Amino acid sequence: MELGLRDKVAVVTGGGSGIGAAICHQLAREGVHVVIADIDMEAAARIAEEINLAGGKALPVYVDVGNAEDVERLMAYVTAQCGGLDLAVNNAGIHGMRNPTGTYPIEEWQRVIRVNLDGVFYCVKHQINAMLERGSGSIVNISSILGTVALPLTSAYTAAKHGVVGLTKAAAIEYARSGIRINVVGPGWIDTPLVTDIQKAASSSRRMDALQPMGRRGKPEEVAALVCFLLSEQASFITGSYHAVDGAYTSH
Ligand code: NAP
Repeated sequence: MELGLRDKVAVVTGGGSGIGAAICHQLAREGVHVVIADIDMEAAARIAEEINLAGGKALPVYVDVGNAEDVERLMAYVTAQCGGLDLAVNNAGIHGMRNPTGTYPIEEWQRVIRVNLDGVFYCVKHQINAMLERGSGSIVNISSILGTVALPLTSAYTAAKHGVVGLTKAAAIEYARSGIRINVVGPGWIDTPLVTDIQKAASSSRRMDALQPMGRRGKPEEVAALVCFLLSEQASFITGSYHAVDGAYTSH
């Protein structure tokens, strides 16, 4: 499907790996100029090089989304370098420690909330202001199946991802008449380095696969396809909503 995104400017946080990298590749194939913002500059530069070698347009930029000043600088840089902002995907995230809530370390709680919830707020705040200058824009926040259901031992991650769903809904209503759409996507278990890390920590790879109604985990490209659709004008009446891409995991 031609999504009509040619020559738009997009910023994708956490674009150096996994789901974010797949989103960057797919946007670039649609003719979008992609700013790949990641804390891992080497990874962002690698994805940018792949895109540019394939004839697309990508620019790697360092950001720690948990640092409000970093995010403000990133958005000012994007606006100055690319002449404005049309599309944004707030995807950077970490999984955090698995531990019962009663003994969950406070520093670990703060580390997870800082990146997975505060980081999304900082990004959405500045993206909205950049998009208001153009009078249009589309933002997709990446939550998780754990934005609507819970997994034991992940209270910080589950709370942050539920928070991203609430943040998205509130902001979408506020800007619904300003030409800015804001949606949230909840991936199920997707094959990326983040999930590999969780498996190592939990040694639960086979149990995880047995819980998948489709008998397999998803691919980053299967999340990217939904995100690109939501970013496009094909989704012009879709805003403020949560969209699962989880192979029926949360249908149990
Ligand atoms: P990933 O492969 O680990 O990629 C995440 C990228 O974000 C990495 O390059 C990471 O850098 C970067 N990052 C981490 N902290 C950052 C920060 N403070 N500022 C900027 N960039 C930062 O993860 P993924 O599996 O693709 O996950 C992407 C998003 O989808 C996350 O929000 C995750 O919670 C969500 N999600 C994933 C799954 C899944 O099954 N994979 C399921 C549901 C939701 P480092 O590698 O240096 O940390």
